[in-house]
Amino acid sequence: MGDFTLELNDDQKSVRDWIHGFAADVMRPAAAEWDEREETPWPIIQEAAKIGLYSLDFYAQQFFDPTGLGIPMTMEELFWGDAGIALSIVGTGLAAVGVLANGTEEQIGTWVPQMYGDADDVKVAAFCSSEPDAGSDVAAMRTRAVYDEAKDEWVINGTKTWATNGGIAGVHVVVAVVDPDLGSRGHASFIVPPGTPGLSQGQKFKKHGIRASHTAEVVLDNVRVPGHCLLGGKDKLDERLARARERVAAAAAGQADSAERIKNAAMATFEASRPAVGAMAVGTARAAYEYALEYAVDRRQFGRPIIDNQGVAFQLADMRTQIDAARLLVWRASWMATAGRPFTAAEGSMSKLFASETAKKVTAQAIQILGGNGYTREYPVERMHRDSAIYTIFEGTSEIQRLVIARALSGLPIR
Ligand SMILES: Cc1cc2nc3c(=O)[nH]c(=O)nc-3n(C[C@H](O)[C@H](O)[C@H](O)COP(=O)(O)OP(=O)(O)OC[C@H]3O[C@@H](n4cnc5c(N)ncnc54)[C@H](O)[C@@H]3O)c2cc1C
Repeated sequence: MGDFTLELNDDQKSVRDWIHGFAADVMRPAAAEWDEREETPWPIIQEAAKIGLYSLDFYAQQFFDPTGLGIPMTMEELFWGDAGIALSIVGTGLAAVGVLANGTEEQIGTWVPQMYGDADDVKVAAFCSSEPDAGSDVAAMRTRAVYDEAKDEWVINGTKTWATNGGIAGVHVVVAVVDPDLGSRGHASFIVPPGTPGLSQGQKFKKHGIRASHTAEVVLDNVRVPGHCLLGGKDKLDERLARARERVAAAAAGQADSAERIKNAAMATFEASRPAVGAMAVGTARAAYEYALEYAVDRRQFGRPIIDNQGVAFQLADMRTQIDAARLLVWRASWMATAGRPFTAAEGSMSKLFASETAKKVTAQAIQILGGNGYTREYPVERMHRDSAIYTIFEGTSEIQRLVIARALSGLPIR
């Protein structure tokens, strides 16, 4: 037998089964209630914290799993349980990754544990990048951070939108413009510590799906944070900005490969994080498929189970095939990220694109297989279908994934 395997090892299987147990016993029974309430399910986050499923230690272990499959496996099981509750549990991780990716060791050690709090006093964190006029077009960001050298403080002004946990978080990670001439290369990330004056929650959105997850605007009005809240530190920022200015100047002088390098460096970060969203979509799709399969076996019309009809059975065959294909793309991209393989064909984006589109399709098919029941809130596939619509929107829409893939394949600045 060679080394290649698609099987989880024994440790991974036992972690997967443990998460599955929590998803089945705690999340599933509460899913409809929190969807209706449209509120953060604090008691469930607390339960997760008590067993160690909502903790920095647990996510760090999965993040550093040498096979790369720890995070996708975790996401798939939690989102199989319920997407809205799961996002309330993993939303803090988005902010934590922002600090892990850009912060110094000291910043990671100080802020990431605070993001989670502890089992007796759980906290959530928010990652605030999107703005009303800067969604897909991140370079259009307007939130400005200006350095006040006399006080060694940064002053941040602007309005963020669509922030998961925005306003209810303790720690907010805010991306802001520090050099408006450099586009997205002129951005930097800041920690806004709990209770900082000037940060407030704007509108809380009433959503189509994932309604247990809190999504809101975050208003930053003369928010002052100490110099040590700039992720990575001032020296590193100054070096990075100097390099970016040189590259922009080189690109303006017609040296296209420099511009290409700038673009590719930015892309690599997203390529590594997108498979995690693909895994969330696989979880929701699998939940709807399993429900529809069981229903098709039980439900009888014309004197036989509806699965006896090829028209129904073939739909289930297609659903399962696409879910398995989506998982394989997610696992490949996650393995590539961990193994440091270059994403020459934007394989991270591929996995997110295919898995998210699959979730939308499969959950719609599940409704069809349940007939009238599928269309009601008495049955979970209706909620799963609403939830699945988010996957083709956040962390880059499907159109943006196609753009990234097409650019990677062609080497051309496809628009
Ligand atoms: C529930 C939810 C949670 C979120 N959580 C967070 C969060 O925690 N933090 C955060 O920072 N952001 C978050 N977001 C924001 C999310 O990442 C953005 O909504 C997403 O990037 C799309 O931006 P937009 O909504 O402004 O859409 P737009 O960019 O306005 O896009 C609208 C449509 O135009 C298409 N389009 C745009 N440009 C192109 C192009 N060049 N080519 C082809 N088509 C194009 C898009 O694909 C889309 O179909 C969240 C969003 C939602 C809905």
